Amino acid sequence: MTRSTLKERSNTATAGSSFDSLGVHPELLRALGDMGFTEPTPIQRQAVPAGLEGRDLLGCAMTGSGKTAAFLLPILQRIQNLPRGVTRALILTPTRELAAQIDEERRALARYTGTTGAAVFGGVSIRPQEKAFRKGVDILVATPGRLLDHFQYDYARLDGIEILVLDEADRMLDMGFLPDIRRVLRHLPGRSRQTMFFSATMPKPIVELSRELLTDPLRLNVERKQEPATGISQALFPVPAQRKPALLIELLKRNEVGNVIAFCRTKHRAKRLYQKLEKAGISAAQIHGNRSQNQRTKALDGFRSGKVRVLAATDIVARGIDVEALDHVVNFDVPNVAEDYIHRVGRTARAGATGEAYTFVSPEEESDVRSIERAVGRPLPRRTLEAFDYDAPAAERFEVPVGERIAAMKARRKEERARARQKEARRRN
Ligand code: ADP
Ligand code: MG
Repeated sequence: MTRSTLKERSNTATAGSSFDSLGVHPELLRALGDMGFTEPTPIQRQAVPAGLEGRDLLGCAMTGSGKTAAFLLPILQRIQNLPRGVTRALILTPTRELAAQIDEERRALARYTGTTGAAVFGGVSIRPQEKAFRKGVDILVATPGRLLDHFQYDYARLDGIEILVLDEADRMLDMGFLPDIRRVLRHLPGRSRQTMFFSATMPKPIVELSRELLTDPLRLNVERKQEPATGISQALFPVPAQRKPALLIELLKRNEVGNVIAFCRTKHRAKRLYQKLEKAGISAAQIHGNRSQNQRTKALDGFRSGKVRVLAATDIVARGIDVEALDHVVNFDVPNVAEDYIHRVGRTARAGATGEAYTFVSPEEESDVRSIERAVGRPLPRRTLEAFDYDAPAAERFEVPVGERIAAMKARRKEERARARQKEARRRN
């Protein structure tokens, strides 16, 4: 069916707000139906028609508003009837988890289209990714670092790219990916292409980069004031630093919170929180930069399936990762950038659901809270947990100072070397 006949049909048969009326092809409509996407979200309603026309886009919408399908639908439809074997669309995204998630949604949406795709990110074997390049899959979702690794080899050529998406653009800049993004751009054809930026916030560097890379873009929602997703109730829990673990454990034991992601300031703190929770008999997992890709995937899967009640995390998982049935975010530490707060809190209450976001605030963190309240535009309510002993001394230290950690590691290594020497000596004798 051609697009114009589809449009005619939708004009007569459908009310104004279905995917059909946006001009989406039947193959994609069928997949949307399978996925339970009956109505487009507001960003999809605005972005899809323009995207289908090949227009550049600068889309700013809160986390959980459905930005992924907003760019995947136009991509899939625009490439569907072109010959296979050429990679025509590249989606850049900051983290492995996000790349995997977008690729999954791409696969679900593409089910009836005959198009192909692959995800390219670090921490996993490079071979299947090389194959994807050699085959020329239609759509690549990639993190900038691993993509640049591939570009060292001849097989990795992306000179057929017609559509480029920067997803979570703000996050990529925060993570220092701007030079990498520029390097990636040098490997793409210079001739006209459709470029789309999607972001939950629109800080100045993004606006500047968009001026450079986008041509007459349709701007969606850019002027909107930063605010976490609606439907979330937020509260602060003032608490002495050393009582934070006990407070979380108490909230969990009293079922004040169900399944939670607890965000920590450092990898060490995430690990220590994980250990404390396990010791208290609460099923937990940890996800942060010191964990391998396999460990991270396993932790997320365990959490998604409900086996793991608490995910102790640094903010690598804060942006964009979609976890269904997540009713709580706990900021175990106050994020020191207001935008991070908005992203983290946006992790819950996705696509209209409701949720709660609790933030533990030690006296030292009060000044960071004030800048968050300024960004949110109002003071956040403060709560105290009844019958919880805020002044009890901590049973043991939460953080081990870095000097001690290094000393312990060195001692462990020395012992291992000594053991290896003994073993070798025994073998010789
Ligand atoms: P964003 O990238 O804006 O943070 P996502 O694209 O990850 O948001 O979508 C958030 C959640 O909403 C996902 O679980 C997704 O499957 C779901 N979703 C997206 N669009 C729709 C829709 N039209 N109808 C129902 N659910 C949707
Ligand atoms: Mg997203």
